[in-house]
Amino acid sequence: MAKLPLDKWILKRIDKSGSSSLTRDMLEEYQLKKLNETLAHVAQNSRFYREKLKDFNCNLKSLDEIRELPFTTMEELTLRGKEMLCVPGGDISRIVTLNTSGSTGPPKRIYFTEEDQELTVDYFHHGMQNLVDPSDNALILLPCSAPGGVGDLLKRGLERLGCRSVPYGFPHVSDESVLEELFKIITEQGVTSMVGSPHEVLSIAEFTAEKTSKMPETLSSPGQPLITRTPQIRTVLLSTDYIPDDLCRRLEEIWGCRVFEHYGMTEMGLGGAVSCEVLIGYHPRENDLYFEIIDPATGQPVPEGEYGEIVFTTLTRKGMPLVRYRTGDRSRWIPGPCPCGSVLKRLDKVLPRNVKKGSYNRSR
Ligand SMILES: [Zn+2]
Repeated sequence: MAKLPLDKWILKRIDKSGSSSLTRDMLEEYQLKKLNETLAHVAQNSRFYREKLKDFNCNLKSLDEIRELPFTTMEELTLRGKEMLCVPGGDISRIVTLNTSGSTGPPKRIYFTEEDQELTVDYFHHGMQNLVDPSDNALILLPCSAPGGVGDLLKRGLERLGCRSVPYGFPHVSDESVLEELFKIITEQGVTSMVGSPHEVLSIAEFTAEKTSKMPETLSSPGQPLITRTPQIRTVLLSTDYIPDDLCRRLEEIWGCRVFEHYGMTEMGLGGAVSCEVLIGYHPRENDLYFEIIDPATGQPVPEGEYGEIVFTTLTRKGMPLVRYRTGDRSRWIPGPCPCGSVLKRLDKVLPRNVKKGSYNRSR
């Protein structure tokens, strides 16, 4: 697995010729530049933001000045999403429809251009290097059928890093024949890594454990993975839902694998933040997204290390940029540098949502 793949990727993107490693100053200078470009883009091309930002200073001198700008809410995205568009409809290559809470409200629609989708593939290409290398074969348990859907973009990212993949789609694990089929795929195709949602992956792990425990020659000794005949699952990436720690521990126990976590939502362009080798919290995609943690009651930033609501601004999106979008998710910044050596900030595990909004499960 590559060392600090995201830092190297961002350095390349910033293109500071002569710099051997990324620094926080370089990254923040880049973020400010991209933030001002985004504000100019939306003020000029989006009907919604032209009106919303008309009385605000959109030429920021520092990242902190973003606090003066108004938030964008999920309700606004739901009701006025189309007015947020910055490009003609013909330039949109993918629309993701998300059901909002309850079944009666109108759905949210998120629009992407080809270029926006390329940013996601590029992120998956580099972010996945935290957990796989070209020797791996990754089973993709996210929706794969729609071109440009999350599974498809992930498959493209994995291809770029030279890794094989099996795009399976979302597994309906309540059906035992699905579990049988997945067991066969894992064993026969030499799957070594898996990307999926927590409860589905756990069901697969429990099934494989039970299946192999019935084979007398596979009985394991204490401290060893239960499965010895099936190919080794080295890494798992869990996404889409709240991920309980005991679920991660159980996966480690069954497969002897390392469990990485991803936090993201469609509004972020699918990818948001991913664990590094330290496996505590996750590093955000800070070159494409500017994150803030705010007090949901006052809208003011919380002191570092305290929990609040995650707010983000897209820095590089063209079709439907979002400015200070309130996610409804709660987390905090883990104080201090990460032991992995990255200059990227570290978000702590996102707390469980009362109402699930914007998860992959809701996308088609
Ligand atoms: Zn780290």
